Amino acid sequence: MAPRRPPGGDRRPFVSGNWKMHHDHIEALHLVRDLGLRLKPEDTVSVEVSVHPPFTDLRTVQTLVEGESIPVALGAQHCSDHDRGAFTGEVSPQMLARLGVRYVLVGHSERRHLFGMTDEQVAATLRAVLRHGMVPVCCVGETQDERDAGRTEPVLAAQLKTAIDGLDAEQVAGLVLAYEPVWAIGTGRAATAVDAEDAAVYLRGLVGEAAGAEAASAVRIQYGGSVNGENAAELVAEPDVDGLLVGGASLDAARFLDVIRGVAGCYRS
Ligand code: PEP
Repeated sequence: MAPRRPPGGDRRPFVSGNWKMHHDHIEALHLVRDLGLRLKPEDTVSVEVSVHPPFTDLRTVQTLVEGESIPVALGAQHCSDHDRGAFTGEVSPQMLARLGVRYVLVGHSERRHLFGMTDEQVAATLRAVLRHGMVPVCCVGETQDERDAGRTEPVLAAQLKTAIDGLDAEQVAGLVLAYEPVWAIGTGRAATAVDAEDAAVYLRGLVGEAAGAEAASAVRIQYGGSVNGENAAELVAEPDVDGLLVGGASLDAARFLDVIRGVAGCYRS
């Protein structure tokens, strides 16, 4: 029996699938079509769903979800902080917006730790995404070493404050934040629901300090890190975790649907 979420709040729960560097455009077609066939109206009536395929799949997925009215928003995993120019290998936020991309992951831990993305680059990219009318999903999270050293909160504070510094309250309210402890990503070792809630409460408090109470109560906060169909319901049962960012379990339609249904079940009663 899924734990029941306490009532209150009008933040629409949000489940996102980050495919990372998996699935070419043909595989993407099969996966999204499979997901579209399995999704029932009650799965998405209260829960918003996005998929974040690799860049080369975006046009294919866009055409499919629009053509077949599949209730899934199109997402990207990253973009440049520049609109155009001599930036070999980069993808412009303007190009993503033209493809109908609605959500862009910004500062995923793999971008930060494998590709050296700094807090300042995260902030610049976040602004570039906003500039083109898309919604940044701003990822923050501590490493195992930082956690062991008792530095989780200062790390989250530094990442978040740099990302939202100078934005107005309305811009902050419209963001999605993803608390993704690095030690939980792809390890099979998810945070506990209590740890995820504590981090979400802390992040919401920081948003309140920076942008006011209205922005704090409006901003959606996802948890990400080894989410699956078994732990999804428990992770969103607490009042401040508004959804999930899912890696491995989003690569298969049935497994992703289990996560979506876990979340939807919490919001039904
Ligand atoms: C992620 O890629 O953001 C993620 C949370 O991955 P996983 O669900 O595989 O841990």
